Amino acid sequence: MPSVKPEPAAAPPAAGPLEKVKGQPQQLRGMKDILPADQPYWDAVRQAVERLAVGAGFARIETPVLEAASLFNRTVGQETDIVEKEMYTFLDRGGDKVALRPENTAGVARAYLEHGMVSWPQPVKLWYLGSFFRHDRPQAGRYRQFWQFGFEVLGDGHPVIDAMLIYLAVTVYRSFQVPVEIQINSLGDKNCRPAYLRLLGEYFRTRKNSLCEDCKRRLQKNPLRILDCKVPDCHTVSQDAPQIVDHLCQACKDHFVHVLEYLGELEIPYNLNPRVVRGLDYYTRTVWQVVEEGALETGGQSDLGGGGRYDDLLEQLGNRQVPAAGFASGVERLIIKMRERQFAPKVESPDVFLAQLGEPARKKCLKLYDVLRSIELKVVEAFSKDGLKPQLEVANRLGVKYALIVGQKEIMDDTILIRDMENGIQEVVDFKKVVPEIQKRLARVAAAPTDGRSKAAPAEQGSSSGGES
Ligand code: AMP
Repeated sequence: MPSVKPEPAAAPPAAGPLEKVKGQPQQLRGMKDILPADQPYWDAVRQAVERLAVGAGFARIETPVLEAASLFNRTVGQETDIVEKEMYTFLDRGGDKVALRPENTAGVARAYLEHGMVSWPQPVKLWYLGSFFRHDRPQAGRYRQFWQFGFEVLGDGHPVIDAMLIYLAVTVYRSFQVPVEIQINSLGDKNCRPAYLRLLGEYFRTRKNSLCEDCKRRLQKNPLRILDCKVPDCHTVSQDAPQIVDHLCQACKDHFVHVLEYLGELEIPYNLNPRVVRGLDYYTRTVWQVVEEGALETGGQSDLGGGGRYDDLLEQLGNRQVPAAGFASGVERLIIKMRERQFAPKVESPDVFLAQLGEPARKKCLKLYDVLRSIELKVVEAFSKDGLKPQLEVANRLGVKYALIVGQKEIMDDTILIRDMENGIQEVVDFKKVVPEIQKRLARVAAAPTDGRSKAAPAEQGSSSGGES
């Protein structure tokens, strides 16, 4: 038997720089392959979000990536950057104007109405994880296809819902040791916002010459958006603008005060930030963004997630008023933060590698493969290879605990070798007893105390934070 020195198990190879070969297809600008080496991070996020959501009584919803474009025009807003500049909209082959979803609140609200969830016990709590599309300027942390997880609570206007949603979002980041804080504001409602918008419009009109071209346009259509413009002159002008929190009606004020009180009880750090207006028209009352702790002081800008209340959205879709609130967080931006903090996702190794020498052994191993799979062991193989050395090299690379080896001698004796891949020790076992024998050894491995460390997946090349939305 050739001896193969065990090597440390390796995670899938890290992505190298993109190879651009003339004539070969390439990923589109702003689109990103999620490669095997990235998957442990994605699995960690998916599992954490699902565990949290299910534990908190949220049911999963998946809506189509393609919706009628009018859904977003009516809800996100015709004049918003998302609809006006970023939405992938096209006529399909039937001549319908459709859009790749740029966000999910509108889709979830549509589904809520379409499937009669209005008559379910309220509130209806839903969560999702999926990809979204915006024809944005690509940069680190900003892509044209990106992933979000989100939570929505429909049919309940109580301020504690807002606080609970914020708590759930913060919990996800905390579970990955990413310290975050909340930037929070209230946008009022249809009773108090119009008067405030008039006041804000007057304020900016007298300072119009200092505004950028985009903000001059926003002055006509949506002066609120001037408040979160990043152009330095607009930023300076905004500093002394009237703040909506000083112009809320009593009901909105009470709502906001309660949200803040509940956040205090939950010990969630927040800053009142009049610049948080969110880029979507459907928000009412509470709006908020999740940012990394201290990000604003250090000039870091990228928000990790955001959400708010949208009490009028279902009415905009033709229903009676149904209060609702929700949030969405970007998966890529969370993973960038996890990598920056050296978060080491668990990479699970297979349990057993099946190695064979010679055609009769290969056939015998095929049957054994089926048996081991059926008892839910994680079994890997390299049946197309002939020599033992190349097979055990694969086993080493995959970090397998045990190799089961069938050679010519084992075929004659109806035995099998169990090789401990860590120390190279091999034992001959009666073939008929291989299943209980391997189960016994794996149970011992599972019961052994660990040093608490997990194998890290390789670091993503060239990833950094800094995007903003
Ligand atoms: P929004 O739907 O704009 O409120 O965004 C919610 C979150 O989704 C943001 O805080 C980001 O984490 C993420 N996000 C938004 N746009 C992009 C993008 N173009 N690329 C990557 N992540 C994004």
